[in-house]
Amino acid sequence: MTEHKGIAASPGIAIGKVHLYRDDVPRIPRYRISEDQLETERQRLHAAIARAGEDIKTIQTENNNDSDVDESKILDSHLMMLKDPSFLSSIDDRMQQEQLNIEWILARTVRDMTNKLADSDDEYLRERVTDIHDMAKRVLDHLLKRSRPRLADLSEEVVLVTHDLMPSDAVAMNKRMVQAIVMDAGGKTSHTAIIARSFEIPAVLGLGRITRTISGGESIIVDGNHGIVIVDPDDETVQSYTRRQSEWQEHEVQLMRLNNLPAETTDGKLIRLNGNIEIPEEVDGVMNHGADGIGLYRSEFLFINSTGLPSENEQYNAYRRVLESMGGRPVTIRTLDVGGDKVSPQIDTGREKNPILGWRAVRVCLAERALFKTQLRALLRASVHGKLQIMFPMISGVQEQILALEILEEVRDEMKAQGIPFADSVPVGCMIEVPSAALTTDTLARKVDFFSIGTNDLIQYTIAVDRGNEKVAYLYEPFHPGVLRLIKIIIDNAHAEGIPVAMCGEMAGDAVATVVLLGLGLDEFSMGAVGIPEVKRIIRSVSMADAEELLGSIMEMRSASEIDDAVRTYMQKRFQLDTY
Ligand code: PEP
Ligand code: MG
Repeated sequence: MTEHKGIAASPGIAIGKVHLYRDDVPRIPRYRISEDQLETERQRLHAAIARAGEDIKTIQTENNNDSDVDESKILDSHLMMLKDPSFLSSIDDRMQQEQLNIEWILARTVRDMTNKLADSDDEYLRERVTDIHDMAKRVLDHLLKRSRPRLADLSEEVVLVTHDLMPSDAVAMNKRMVQAIVMDAGGKTSHTAIIARSFEIPAVLGLGRITRTISGGESIIVDGNHGIVIVDPDDETVQSYTRRQSEWQEHEVQLMRLNNLPAETTDGKLIRLNGNIEIPEEVDGVMNHGADGIGLYRSEFLFINSTGLPSENEQYNAYRRVLESMGGRPVTIRTLDVGGDKVSPQIDTGREKNPILGWRAVRVCLAERALFKTQLRALLRASVHGKLQIMFPMISGVQEQILALEILEEVRDEMKAQGIPFADSVPVGCMIEVPSAALTTDTLARKVDFFSIGTNDLIQYTIAVDRGNEKVAYLYEPFHPGVLRLIKIIIDNAHAEGIPVAMCGEMAGDAVATVVLLGLGLDEFSMGAVGIPEVKRIIRSVSMADAEELLGSIMEMRSASEIDDAVRTYMQKRFQLDTY
């Protein structure tokens, strides 16, 4: 039995069998070959290349429609690369020189080639890196007789253990069969963690090297409440966790009893509790957990998971579906936020040295006007089907907000001229997730109807800590005095201008932070649906006077750890958090 401690990224307890997903960590064998094996290795390579070529042709025939013209062209270029004589001869030369097996030689040749291209000044060449990797992976799959695993095809219940998981894979996997997720990489606010919470899948992330210590099929316990993973547990441990699992489920059932009650403090302040969603299918979960509305619909997942850019109509249908299913409750849809760790095959944000600080979110939209306007048209068309609010992500200052509003106005004018109906009043807000925006919220507040604080990014940019990197996860401190001061500035500036403030980053759903956020004056909390009942329980058992008193005491403190200890002790004593 071995115990591993990682980041508690999504609550719940699972007991199951390991499914090791290795697509992202290909192991390439390396062994010496003799002179007389050279010809066999050559033949193996040519056979694998031929099969990879057949795969590409099959994909092209299966997808033979207009929308995939670009994909077909890319696949054609992969076919050409497979036959490129200079590529083949450099592999052959190297194999003769180094006398190592062909998989190793192919992988090294491709690595050297792509390293050179990645440093090139020519954008076209840099963009070929992904193509070369993709093509090489296909050939390697055949050499290693490895079939590409597809998480969508999982047909039995498993605990998914993997090095890393792209948000797009997390959305595409067969979620009914995933009892829990365990990863080497990732932090609490990485998008995979957010998706796990949305689908109520327990997750422990940031374990560093767990994939190196297991081979698949082992028994495993995942405690997403405390960030603990136990491999090959003994009977006693299994019994103890089975008991905890049913206590946790019972606690969840108790909390669900609060569903129809308002989130009101004991001295009468009414707080709005909203749900965050990534795809329209999550609306049922939000409704079942008693949300007042949707505070964040991450519209980019429409772009991340589609095979082509979603058309205006496809977008309109998705937005309309969410608005209608929420039955008149407010729905805040955030415009496209690609870039960073959210890669869309449709929108090429290029290879960037520093994607988190690069071309992402509203920056992409302001540059790609046609794309942005299509989304705004789809949103406005959908606005007649419910109570829509629109917000822009990653605004860094007032100029960007003004420009985005001008484009929205332009779309409104065009639609009016064409006689296309849309709602008269669609409140427009912006996310505050960049420190420069937070510090200028006095100006920004005059331009918008509401703010929504994106703490996932705000903390990342304030403390300069990559939210998805497990090595620096210890620095990711929501209770850092710098973060708390910024939140206070945002809320005070907004209230001085008479606009409400929501929070849709993960901090809003962390029950440990609830009383502090109340004390700071937050009006709306938006979170993954599962978090709503616990936050509601706390709000309903505390007064604003108590919340302000707790806030007053911690704002005097100097370090994140001092504040964290004080708040946890207070919350544990008063609300018995952390017992399951
Ligand atoms: C945030 O940054 O807090 C946020 C809600 O946006 P995302 O997590 O999608 O970056
Ligand atoms: Mg963000």
